[in-house]
Amino acid sequence: MRIIVSTDNVNKLREIRELLGDDVELLTKSDAGYGDVHPIEDGETLEENALIKVESIEGDEGDVVIGDDTGLFVNALDGRPGVHSARYAGEEHDDAANRALLLKEMEDTIDRSAYFKTVIAVKRGDAVYTVEGVCPGQILMGEKGENGFGYDPLFVPEGYDETFAEMTEEEKNKISHRGRALRAFIDSLELK
Ligand code: IMP
Repeated sequence: MRIIVSTDNVNKLREIRELLGDDVELLTKSDAGYGDVHPIEDGETLEENALIKVESIEGDEGDVVIGDDTGLFVNALDGRPGVHSARYAGEEHDDAANRALLLKEMEDTIDRSAYFKTVIAVKRGDAVYTVEGVCPGQILMGEKGENGFGYDPLFVPEGYDETFAEMTEEEKNKISHRGRALRAFIDSLELK
């Protein structure tokens, strides 16, 4: 089975490959010949953006196309940055600037609870559907750890005392929003 992932983000691909193993052929959109396709993610929700990503790729017969969208939802900020997580501090999608802005906005915030949510849209033949994964946790007052990407150095998942950026990729995948969404996707392939 060929799975085309509607992304060119190598971090994401590495995480996905670790979960799917070697049984499936995993292609980025560039690998599949869609390198020039840059869908505009202007949806109001993660679901809408994930669907926009898969709809922009045709694929060959038998291919499964997936597209994901992730957001960090902070309760004290009424769910921000949420669907705008990538461009929270500006259109440059600068991870360090996004983290700095989040820390500043939460400077005096006592409730540090938040959750990551990933929605994966799946296109398989004529069927299009979405699956999701959620990971609750807490936002620290400062950064800890060197691994991962995005908001990882600020996020301690529930039940742990390390940030995602202090965990190995394997540890993170077991409990992360994306890991959970991917396992739901894998389960859905057997059912549908
Ligand atoms: P995207 O939908 O994967 O592009 O992610 C949207 C935003 O959330 C970007 O700023 C990412 O850096 C951030 N993000 C996505 N997944 C994670 C994660 O697993 N850990 C930390 N930040 C993430």
